[in-house]
Amino acid sequence: MSERDLMYLKDLVAFRDDLIKLRVAFGNRIGAKKDGSVWVFLRRYTICKNKHVILLKEDEQREKCPLCGEQVIVVEETPSDELVQRYMELLKQQETVEALIADAVTKFPEFEYFLAYIKGIGPANAARLIVYAYPPAFQYNVNKFRKYAGLAIMFQCQKCGYYYYGGESSNAKPAIPSKDGWLCPNDNTKLVGAAARNVKYNRTVKTFLLGILANNLILAGGVYAKIIKSFKDEIASKHPDWTKLKVQRTAIRKALSLLLSQYFAISLHYREGVPLTEAYKVVLGKEYNSISKHADFIIGPVTDYYTDTKTTKYKAKFDKIIQELGVDKDEVITWLKNKKIVE
Ligand SMILES: [Zn+2]
Ligand SMILES: [Zn+2]
Repeated sequence: MSERDLMYLKDLVAFRDDLIKLRVAFGNRIGAKKDGSVWVFLRRYTICKNKHVILLKEDEQREKCPLCGEQVIVVEETPSDELVQRYMELLKQQETVEALIADAVTKFPEFEYFLAYIKGIGPANAARLIVYAYPPAFQYNVNKFRKYAGLAIMFQCQKCGYYYYGGESSNAKPAIPSKDGWLCPNDNTKLVGAAARNVKYNRTVKTFLLGILANNLILAGGVYAKIIKSFKDEIASKHPDWTKLKVQRTAIRKALSLLLSQYFAISLHYREGVPLTEAYKVVLGKEYNSISKHADFIIGPVTDYYTDTKTTKYKAKFDKIIQELGVDKDEVITWLKNKKIVE
């Protein structure tokens, strides 16, 4: 893999992203809708006596013109064949670029040895993750990336003003982990966590991780869907006063942090030949000592290998990876059992 391969993957990902935006926007104009496996095109719009023509969204009702308030009539029509064909061409282009991505992404060890084994991360999501979160570009430090992506949480001391954010703190001292959460190194007060305000981060990357990727993981129903569910149950019982939404969001953040740490460690191992356990020290940085003592800590890689019993070929391939990495399979299984993910 060379930098040229990375640039190529970046170009393909950008092309696909833009293409999808264009296709969806155009599809809305011409009322494109997938009915099972077939595309149907039927658009609705309203027209008033002042000739204001305004599209209706799916299932949207309208009696008065939003521009002038006059009565409207609803028109339902099939768009012209020419327009439908342009839409189908965009779909075809998307398929072409996705096939190119599926091929290009196999040059990346992060995909070959980790992401390919996770339900909900296909080649397109893996490619996006790799170009957005290319571990060497963050010196393999996951905290640098979490900060960049707006995933880091700022922990503050209400007593002395100390804060801890993405591996950095107000006085260079790290926060102290405890059973109840992070403690202030100055006065042992419990730190209060909140989304960091007034800090810059990459919005596209954050939306991809917490929105698209998280949704795909949940929909796929694989091991990460189960991890999110398990974290949710833990968080809900620990914080009975939290809203469902806050519990859900915290669980998703936690699961993604877990996934990202493994992804960075695997990357460092295969790119620089660093043993996996050593790689975690680089990936977690200053926090390694405290995090590695935490009950939730696990040297991955956690993938669907542990829950998917269907394909033997897939099992054999990942068996080889685990062996090569020197990972203790039983440790991972025990962790999954503790999380009630496997029986
Ligand atoms: Zn009008
Ligand atoms: Zn303090």
